[in-house]
Amino acid sequence: MEKLIVTSFYKYVNLYNLEIFQKEHLDFCNKIGIKGKVLIGNEGINGSISGNKEQIKEYKKKLKSYKEFSDIKFKDTESNYHPFRKTIVRIRKEIVTSNFNVDPTKTGHHLSPKELKKMYDKKEDFVIIDARNNYESKIGKFKNAITPNIDIFRDFKKVVPKISKYKNKKVVLYCTGGIRCEKASALLIKKGFKDVSQVDGGIINYINQYPGTYFEGRCFTFDARLSVETGNKEISICEKCHKPCGEYTNCANIKCDKLFICCDECKQEWYNSCSKNCRNSVKIRDLSKIN
Ligand SMILES: [Zn+2]
Ligand SMILES: [Zn+2]
Repeated sequence: MEKLIVTSFYKYVNLYNLEIFQKEHLDFCNKIGIKGKVLIGNEGINGSISGNKEQIKEYKKKLKSYKEFSDIKFKDTESNYHPFRKTIVRIRKEIVTSNFNVDPTKTGHHLSPKELKKMYDKKEDFVIIDARNNYESKIGKFKNAITPNIDIFRDFKKVVPKISKYKNKKVVLYCTGGIRCEKASALLIKKGFKDVSQVDGGIINYINQYPGTYFEGRCFTFDARLSVETGNKEISICEKCHKPCGEYTNCANIKCDKLFICCDECKQEWYNSCSKNCRNSVKIRDLSKIN
């Protein structure tokens, strides 16, 4: 079967007449048959969509036809199925919730994957910081990265005092596709960090160019796939049998819905559930369906 393409994109740019754009864009998405989630706001656009090669090509052409998005960059990954169930275009105050109160155009230097790889190859002196959440860095991260223990991006603000000892060092930030780093780097600069860079296009852009190098483990994605390969082996283990494993699963007990790392064998044995309690409730639910 032909693989589908998942493409993600963002741009911080002043947008107006959001309701008009929202309707027009949703109609277009439905017309060409792509699925995914697009957030728009006065500060810009942030989206991730899936479709076949032709649909994705048509979508990119359409988005680039708007003057505001003529230079927007897309980052592609593959999927065996639509990792989004429907098509959503939503208006939000922030296209990435941060409450940082920063200007997302006053950001750090955009470091290309090539430049980052060179810094690693030459063993340069730099501090690399993960701007993502703890469950994301648990299954994959850049080599030697500092991985703050946060559950939501908003809390990156609380990380700043803990890393202030690196204020005068060369600091490199990264996230999945680059959008969070625009705000995180603006925040560090505002707080007095002297030399802040961010990986341009994030992990996805890096692993598309240099798979199997300095990004270790798997890359978490906010869609049904939950992660994608990076060309390197797992850095995490199955929470049940402790074998190397980088794949997340959502607990089958809908009331629990916990995200946990689980291998295929254990998924079967545990009915995709995270605990004995959840396994029992899943069993009960399945039985009631049969009867
Ligand atoms: Zn296992
Ligand atoms: Zn559970």
